[in-house]
Amino acid sequence: MKLFYDLHIHSDLSPCASREMTPNNIINMSIVKGLNVISLTDHNSTANLPALIEASHGSGLKVIPGIEVTSKEEVHLLCYFRELSRALKFGTIIYQSLPPIINMPEIFGEQNIYNSNDEIVGVLDKLLINATPFSIGDINNMVKESKGIMIPAHINKMSNSILSILGFIPKDLEVDFVEIYSKNSINKKMFEKYKILKNSDAHCLTDISEAVNFFDLNDMDSIYNIKEWDTP
Ligand SMILES: [Zn+2]
Ligand SMILES: [Zn+2]
Repeated sequence: MKLFYDLHIHSDLSPCASREMTPNNIINMSIVKGLNVISLTDHNSTANLPALIEASHGSGLKVIPGIEVTSKEEVHLLCYFRELSRALKFGTIIYQSLPPIINMPEIFGEQNIYNSNDEIVGVLDKLLINATPFSIGDINNMVKESKGIMIPAHINKMSNSILSILGFIPKDLEVDFVEIYSKNSINKKMFEKYKILKNSDAHCLTDISEAVNFFDLNDMDSIYNIKEWDTP
């Protein structure tokens, strides 16, 4: 069974994302695109996960709770969880760890929290694009403790990727997957030991993936058996 996915999407909570990235718009565009599984991965916060997951109910679209964390090395790391409660707990720790630098919406963009009716119900004050004090290894351990999975993000992007900052993937970093940014090319042979996710990193609606990347899994629920993810 092919499950078409896009596991790297930003909502209007991320300062760099478009205002149109509301929970219902993300759900509806993902359905129009023919996707079966998506994840919301805002920068250093999980505050819009409850609204997006509630908005997805009855749509047939599966939403995996996620977040894109910035390590102290300024490397972006995608973190996925089986349970919303664990994702929210982790997201709170991450947000609280950010430096007390207040966002300036007119410069960086708004950081809006939504309910499932696409109404703005709050705003996050601290600038979400700053780095947390946690190392890549720290974050991997924290995510594993929460029964989640950490995946180095967009390794073929020139900024905030593990390759652009460290120049390599540390041998002792226990990760099964790396993420490739769909719009940039990469020599996949260099990363043969890893499974590969290909996502959009969408910050606006039209950038959400078409139904091209898929997992071959028996059923929708097996998506949570992360070890079974097999991406062609
Ligand atoms: Zn990123
Ligand atoms: Zn991103």
